[in-house]
Parts: sequence; structure tokens; C-alpha cells
Amino acid sequence: MFIGHYAVGLVAKRWAPKASLATTFMACQLLDLIWPVLVLLGIETVAVDRSATEFTPLDFIHYPVSHSMVMALIWGLVFGFFFSVFTGDRLTALKMVAVVFSHWVLDFITHRPDLPLLWFEPKVGLGLWYSKLGTVVFEAGLFTAAIVFYLKETSLPTLKSKLVFWSLVIFLSAIYMVNAFGPQPAEETPGAMIAAPALAMWLFVFWAAWIERCSVSKSR
Ligand SMILES: [Zn+2]
Repeated sequence: MFIGHYAVGLVAKRWAPKASLATTFMACQLLDLIWPVLVLLGIETVAVDRSATEFTPLDFIHYPVSHSMVMALIWGLVFGFFFSVFTGDRLTALKMVAVVFSHWVLDFITHRPDLPLLWFEPKVGLGLWYSKLGTVVFEAGLFTAAIVFYLKETSLPTLKSKLVFWSLVIFLSAIYMVNAFGPQPAEETPGAMIAAPALAMWLFVFWAAWIERCSVSKSR
């Protein structure tokens, strides 16, 4: 799951308007922002297995710290705690806990049974990734609906704001399409080579902050 998480980030901005878009983007993708760091540190492992699923050749061998159900809840609570400390807004902090946990729920729908509940076994996943078409339709549908929902409440008054917002949408969609339909990595690609480019996802947090700065809420 990739753009589907950002769909949640956009919807969360309307659900919790006191959080910035950068905050909701960080929350919805927190597990995937942590994951490449853990792979590079050798704590979690990933490999390429072209027979894994139709959508992705990635074999998430071991990633309980970033992606077990229990840890997803803990990361959510940690995120919500810091949000509450910095803003004093407990209701929005609680909503951020849910947004962080939503990542696990969406991954549960798409991944094959590779998501640990606790640490090792049992591992769960509904396996939407076994169908490339099903995955793309589901995620692109979520993302499109979220953009419409977000823009009902947010106006992009200047050319710059439109460019900043729509370039992000196009960039995320392009990455997604390359992942789905582009060339697959070789079987022997080391995990670090898979994880390192994923660090670029931090960029979208800053991009969201930029959108927030030049957009205007319609309810203000
Ligand atoms: Zn994930």
C-alpha cells in the first residue's frame, strides 16, 4: 500500500483540522518512514522474491518493530503522546493515534500474510496484492476520492499553491505506477538497496508542510 496511505492522510486533515497536513502525512505513513531506517540498521529484513505477489516482488521477511499490529498501536500512542505534549490538544492527539494505526489496517488488507500480530507468528494479511488490478483499482480509488474530499474543504488560491498540490499528486501517482507496472528489481538485490530509496518518503512530509502553507481552509 502506498497512495492509499496518503488518501488517509488527506482525509485525516479534514477529520482533524487542527493537525497540519504534514502531521497527518507523517502519521499515516509513520510505519513506512521507520521501516527503511530499521532495514538499514539490520534490525528488519526484506528481500526480492518475484513470486511473492502479483503486485510487489518484495518479501517482507522480518519487520515486527515497524509493522506488527502491537507495535503499530505503540507507535500510534507514542506519536499521539508527542502531539499532545507539543499542542495540548488531546482530542486531535487521539485522532492521530488512529491515523497511525490506519497504516496497519490498510497494510493488512493488501499484504499477503506477512504482518506479525505480535513479533513472529501468527502473521496475517488479506492478500489484495495477489491481484495487481484489484490493488491498483482499490488504491487509486481511495486516493482519488480522498483528493476530492480534501479539496471540498481546502482551496488552493494561487497558481503556486495549485502547482505545489498537483505536482505532489502527480509525483505520488507516477511513483505508484512505476512500482506497479515498471521493471522489477533483481532477485539478488540487497535489502539495503530496497530500503534506501524508501527514505525519500520523508520528502512528502515536507511537501505536505509546503501545501499547508499555501492552501486555505474554506471553513475559516
Ligand atoms: Zn507499511
